[in-house]
Amino acid sequence: MSAKGDMFYAWTNDANIKGECGGAVTSILKYMLSEKIVDMVLTVRKGVDLYDPQPAFITDPAELDKCAGSLHCGTLLLPKLIKKYLNGAKDMKIAITCKGCDAKAMYELGKRNQINMDNVIMIGLNCGGSVAPQMARKMIVEKYGVNPDKVFKEEIDKGQFIIEYTDENGAHQEKGIKIDDLEAEGMGRRLNCQRCETKIPRQCDLACGNWGVIGEKAGKATFVEVCSEKGAMVLDGAVKAGILATSAPEAKGLEIRGKIENVMVKMGKKAQEKQFATLGEGTDRLNKIMREASRCIKCYGCIENCPICYCVECSTKKPHLVRPGIIPPDFMFQMIRFAHIADSCINCGQCQELCPMDIPNSLYMHAQQVELEKMFGHKPGYDMELPVLAFAEEATERARLNATGSDMIYENVFGEQK
Ligand code: FAD
Ligand code: SF4
Ligand code: SF4
Ligand code: SF4
Ligand code: SF4
Repeated sequence: MSAKGDMFYAWTNDANIKGECGGAVTSILKYMLSEKIVDMVLTVRKGVDLYDPQPAFITDPAELDKCAGSLHCGTLLLPKLIKKYLNGAKDMKIAITCKGCDAKAMYELGKRNQINMDNVIMIGLNCGGSVAPQMARKMIVEKYGVNPDKVFKEEIDKGQFIIEYTDENGAHQEKGIKIDDLEAEGMGRRLNCQRCETKIPRQCDLACGNWGVIGEKAGKATFVEVCSEKGAMVLDGAVKAGILATSAPEAKGLEIRGKIENVMVKMGKKAQEKQFATLGEGTDRLNKIMREASRCIKCYGCIENCPICYCVECSTKKPHLVRPGIIPPDFMFQMIRFAHIADSCINCGQCQELCPMDIPNSLYMHAQQVELEKMFGHKPGYDMELPVLAFAEEATERARLNATGSDMIYENVFGEQK
């Protein structure tokens, strides 16, 4: 029997599962779906090519075999799909694969009553970062001298972005370039990934990765850390069902994993300092943000994709706050987002990756979040602690606002309206 805090090497016994390392994640997902522990698995599968990770809503266990493996060239964030399309897991049980940003988004939606966390099992994936699809194609052409359509596998390993591809003679080739070198030239991982500090998502029920798997199991086993009782239950269940095997991790492997995590977290902090420094301070920062925001076409993409934005009636659509029919919108549009989200931004990058005007929204919001964390000590995405604004539940709050005609949405926190 396993328990919270236990760690294992784990590998599949199912010949149909061709996992990224040991296939433990797919095995556990398959076990949960076969045994009806969950009604659905929400994960990711390859679309037209490996630069096109797509969300996969799976109810047939055999379909999971097609999802095995890791896709690093994408910007997907899964949790909001549970809110949008699966009624917030209110009436079904769902297992979901979560990188650090997915895990944090789950917690932020959970604490706002948008996802029923009791009905969700989160299988965490360690994450060194992901690359935007268009950037991946560009750097494969420019830095690797390879046609991106000939690449059949990509991975981030030992500080390198490595591609496997078919050359003009039909032979398989491999080429790796140090991520540091790519990033020094403005390529490599997404900017928010460079700033990310959530490398092993222990908010999940299990945290799975390849860091720390050494010796004869290197490349053949998944490193699994048990992070909750639910996690222990599904890991034990998969072993008992015979789909998964485990062994104790090597002591040296544990040490290596710890060291890598520390280095990656430090790198994230360093990237924050470097990127935030480009924003300047005070009025300079505000002017910079206003200048960049003047490109905004008010497509609402940042709001639509932000896991913190969940409101049925968005304040940015209120005519007395942001005048309708004017492009770029009044700066109040951006101010509303800062006021509502900065304390809870999880640095997922969605508002930047998906902004058609390339406005570095995530950089600004994350910079504000880091300052607010220093002031108030609230760290979003790591536990169910409520930030100030989450005290107001949308439906109740809107009913009150409509009844009173007020816009004082802080009533629940600060008492009587003025
Ligand atoms: P598999 O059995 O192959 O199952 C993997 C599951 O993950 C599948 O269900 C698949 O659909 C899902 N998946 C694939 N891509 C994504 C995605 N982008 N978002 C959400 N789900 C996805 N491990 C480390 O130890 N160090 C790292 O630096 C590291 N970086 C990673 C970066 C990314 C972007 C991803 C997706 C994973 C990363 N991992 C990292 C985790 C590692 O690649 C494996 O996913 C993990 O070890 C589980 O292996 P497995 O063989 O058990 O998984
Ligand atoms: Fe991974 Fe963090 Fe980037 Fe999310 S933000 S993809 S967890 S590095
Ligand atoms: Fe993600 Fe942007 Fe929302 Fe922050 S503001 S949580 S980076 S979408
Ligand atoms: Fe996001 Fe604020 Fe709009 Fe709600 S009201 S969707 S928090 S910008
Ligand atoms: Fe404006 Fe970009 Fe947001 Fe669209 S995604 S509303 S262009 S900031």
